[in-house]
Amino acid sequence: MAKETILKVDNLKKYFPIRAGVIQKTVGHVKAVDGVSFEIKKGETLGLVGESGCGKSTTGRTILRLLEKTEGRVEFNGVDLHSLKREEIRKMRPKMQIIFQDPYSSLNPRMTVGEIIGESLIEHKLATRNDVTQKVLDIMGICGLASYHIRRYPHEFSGGQRQRIGIARALVLNPEFIVADEPVSALDVSIQSQIINLLMESQENYGFSYLFISHDLSVVKHISHRVGVMYLGSLIELAPKNELYDNPLHPYTKALLSAVPIPDPTLKRDRIILTGDIPSPAKPPSGCKFHTRCPYTMDICKSEIPEYKNVGKEHFVACHLVK
Ligand code: SF4
Repeated sequence: MAKETILKVDNLKKYFPIRAGVIQKTVGHVKAVDGVSFEIKKGETLGLVGESGCGKSTTGRTILRLLEKTEGRVEFNGVDLHSLKREEIRKMRPKMQIIFQDPYSSLNPRMTVGEIIGESLIEHKLATRNDVTQKVLDIMGICGLASYHIRRYPHEFSGGQRQRIGIARALVLNPEFIVADEPVSALDVSIQSQIINLLMESQENYGFSYLFISHDLSVVKHISHRVGVMYLGSLIELAPKNELYDNPLHPYTKALLSAVPIPDPTLKRDRIILTGDIPSPAKPPSGCKFHTRCPYTMDICKSEIPEYKNVGKEHFVACHLVK
C-alpha cells in the first residue's frame, strides 16, 4: 500500500528584495527558490543536493515558515502552513523540527544541556516539570549522551556531541517531519557516519520523515530514499536514489556525480568539468538556467524553459535533451 503524503510543496518561491539608494528602493530580487514542487511520504527521506547557494537551505526554511514564502503552497498533513496565524504555527512547531549545520551557534551557550533539550517540552506543555528531566535523560541516552552531561554547557562538548544535543532537542518533541540542513558538514569525517547512523536509526524507531539537505552526494545517497537536485533555485531532477545515481539524465546531475569518488580503485569515472561560474540568482539566465554551463546547449535551451516532467520510474527531469 502506498504511504501517505506528509508534506506537499507546490511551486514554492522565495525571492529576497535587492534594495539600493537613499530610500532603499527595491531594484530587483534574488530568486533563491524559484518554483519548487515535490512531495514527501510518511517515513521517507528526501535528499536535496546542489552547489552552495542553489537554494536548498532557503527551501527548507521556507517550508518550515522560518522564512515567509513569496509564492506557492506548502501542505503539512493537508494543512496549508503559510495560511496559519502565528499562534497556530507555533502550536504546529513540535511536529516540524530542524537540525542545523552548526550545532554550536544554534545552542544557547548560557543554558545547560538539560535546559536546551527540555525548553520546548515546557513551552509546548508536552511534559510536566516533574517529567521533563526523565524525558530529557531518556532522549539523551538514545542520542548517545551520558546522563551526567545534563548539567554541562555546550562549550564543554565536541562538534559531534553538540550535534547529538541538537538532534536530541528535535527528537524530544516527537516530530513527524525534520529538516536536516547540512547536519554533518561541519563535522570530522570520522564523526559524520556516527551522526548519520543516529539519524537513520531514529527514523526507523520513530517513523518520521526527513528533508535532508547536503552538498555531499555520497552522504545523501546513503541516507535518502529519493534525491532531488537543485540548480539556481529550481529542481532540475528528482528520482528514487538508485535510479538517480545509476541513470542520471540531466547534464548537471551527471557532472555532479562524475566528481564523486568511487570506493573501488580499479574503477575510474570520466570527470565532467563544468566551465563558467554559477550565474547570479538575481539575474538567472533565460530558458534553461543551466545553459551557460551546459556542454550540450542548443538554441532552444537559451529561450525556452524545459518542462519538468516524469519520464517513468518516478524520475523527473527538466532538460530539452530528454524526450
Ligand atoms: Fe543543457 Fe539544454 Fe538540457 Fe539545459 S535544457 S541541461 S542547456 S541540454
